[in-house]
Amino acid sequence: MSAPLEPTAVQVDASWYRNPQTSGGRVYHMLRPGTSNSDERVACGKYAMFAGHTPARMIDNAIRCQRNGCKQAWPTGGAS
Ligand SMILES: [Zn+2]
Repeated sequence: MSAPLEPTAVQVDASWYRNPQTSGGRVYHMLRPGTSNSDERVACGKYAMFAGHTPARMIDNAIRCQRNGCKQAWPTGGAS
């Protein structure tokens, strides 16, 4: 079994914070491939609790993280 992993996007789990920031909206980050549930990292280097795992191709451009790392990791060629 060697099916390629589908690129996955995640949101920061804001409920984990004492004072969740709501001004940033619901931005998704690209989950780095090969991460496990106990050590989740995103491509831009942000380190936090993440939730809402979603296939990256389903995330609208407007809510994609544009920080260096995530920016390059988003799949292209889909809806523009
Ligand atoms: Zn990011």
